[in-house]
Amino acid sequence: MEARAKNEVVVPGIAASQGIAYGQVFLYIQSDVEIPSYQVDADKRIEEISRFEHALLVTRQQIQKIRDEVEKNLGADEARIFDAHLLVLEDQALISETIREFETTSKNIETCFNKVSQRYIKAFSEIDDEYLRERAGDIRDVAQRMLQNLLGQAGQNLSKLADKRAVVANDISPSDAASIDRSQAIALVTDSGSKTSHAVIVARSMKIPAVVGVRDMTRRVRNGDWILVDGYDGQVIINPTEQTLFRYGKIQLQKKGFEQRMFDASKLPAVTLDGAAVILRANIEKVDEVKLVRENSASGVGLFRTEFLYLSDNRVPSEEEQYAAYKAVAEAFPDEPVVIRTLDLGGDKPMTGNPDLFPEESNPFLGFRAIRFCLEHKEIFKDQLRAILRASAHGKVQLMYPMISGSEELARANAVLEECRAELKKDGVAFDAKMAVGAMIEIPSAAVTADILAKECDFFSIGTNDLIQYLLAIDRVNDRIAHLYEPTHPAVLRTIKQIVDEAHRQKIKVSVCGEMAGDPVYVPLLLGLGVDELSMTPPLLPAVKYLVRAMKMSEAKKLAKDALELTSPKEIYALADKFCRERVKSE
Ligand code: PEP
Ligand code: MG
Repeated sequence: MEARAKNEVVVPGIAASQGIAYGQVFLYIQSDVEIPSYQVDADKRIEEISRFEHALLVTRQQIQKIRDEVEKNLGADEARIFDAHLLVLEDQALISETIREFETTSKNIETCFNKVSQRYIKAFSEIDDEYLRERAGDIRDVAQRMLQNLLGQAGQNLSKLADKRAVVANDISPSDAASIDRSQAIALVTDSGSKTSHAVIVARSMKIPAVVGVRDMTRRVRNGDWILVDGYDGQVIINPTEQTLFRYGKIQLQKKGFEQRMFDASKLPAVTLDGAAVILRANIEKVDEVKLVRENSASGVGLFRTEFLYLSDNRVPSEEEQYAAYKAVAEAFPDEPVVIRTLDLGGDKPMTGNPDLFPEESNPFLGFRAIRFCLEHKEIFKDQLRAILRASAHGKVQLMYPMISGSEELARANAVLEECRAELKKDGVAFDAKMAVGAMIEIPSAAVTADILAKECDFFSIGTNDLIQYLLAIDRVNDRIAHLYEPTHPAVLRTIKQIVDEAHRQKIKVSVCGEMAGDPVYVPLLLGLGVDELSMTPPLLPAVKYLVRAMKMSEAKKLAKDALELTSPKEIYALADKFCRERVKSE
């Protein structure tokens, strides 16, 4: 290990979410619980069983404490899940089977408990009853905690930071990101990751700076060290000097003034100087983000990423839970569309610790992801579709499918939707029979067949995060090749143009909901290519609206035309960057 810095050290990374923060480090190292396996000597047997009993007791106390806190802060309903966790610990069959396993194999108790609990998880997750299937998730959570206690690993937790902290992690999974303590985290720094990793999307929605791809950051700092995170230039400064803090204080004041100017403009209509109205919507992941959507004056929700309902508790939510969430968002925007995306788990959004649902794959980005998973797990898919349909009775809900690769897949998804419509109709449950249904275009095969797909859906939403990854063969979360992830590659621009042209030929609208839509450098290019709507993380809206109000649509069209004639991504970027800088001056 390198010696730790005593003096100021500037460590470069990738600027992923704007802002400046100065504070103490909370070091978060993510690792799976590794279970050692060994034989226990005959004279240590009683000790091994009492180790098990002690872990049961400690785990029970921990869960009881969390339960009480949740009840106090969030209410009895939210606390109920922990009652189910407590019941798992009281399950005599689970306990006695673990002891029997130990008595027959003499293997250490962690190995025995893991074996028995995995058997239970598998059995429960295969049961054709929603309530019982959910118990699999409870057992998984409790088993994980038990194993941590048995192995003496105090589970780290991002959901409860003791104080304001800059989180420094080797990686932040989507489920960590979903549970992050929004009141205390002031910055995110990760060794790995890129601009479109989910931790970054969460950082942007929290309006805190993020710097990713800082390779060995977790080896350079310890808990409590002081760092300055510069999310504008993408660097982290360890032990900043007084002069550096003073310099950054001035930069921060200047940026704040500029941000305020943009925020004031965000209350005005999104209309270009030559009178073209531009639709700007918001991307959200959690119901409580509707507040941010309003604050930043978005025209409804262009992408509701529903995975986070599944990832925050690492279990499949029931139809009722989903209905409540979708309904709440639909009701928050009675006059604007709320586009709910069906489940996109897998790939960069894995549901960890669920080998029964997501078996390990050597190539998860090309694997069992999103709509592919849903079409195989029809009951899980139908629960979600029914919940979305029911919510459509309460607002202007639209539905879209992620990762559509071609027309047959779209037809299969629509057939399941039709089944749900028929069931609800039969049961007399209200839903919007005319709810618009769209496809995300984020796989090259969908882009190439956009003419066919456009005839079979009501709108397109281009997921540039994935589309770029698959077009350029650049893993979107691999920091080693992050510099090759180029949204201005001619292949990307030509593909977007082709999608837009085919959609418009069929008279359907095209939105872009990937991170490109929230970056002022790319916004004029996208609008110039004919994109109808942009959807982005709410705090990015003011800057985009400011730029829209400072440019002409005719100029954007000329920019896109010129860009399409260039061959180099760097040249196109320079052209787009100049366009933006000439219209938005931060001084
Ligand atoms: C995208 O791929 O651009 C997108 C919006 O979806 P996600 O980032 O959730 O994969
Ligand atoms: Mg995507």
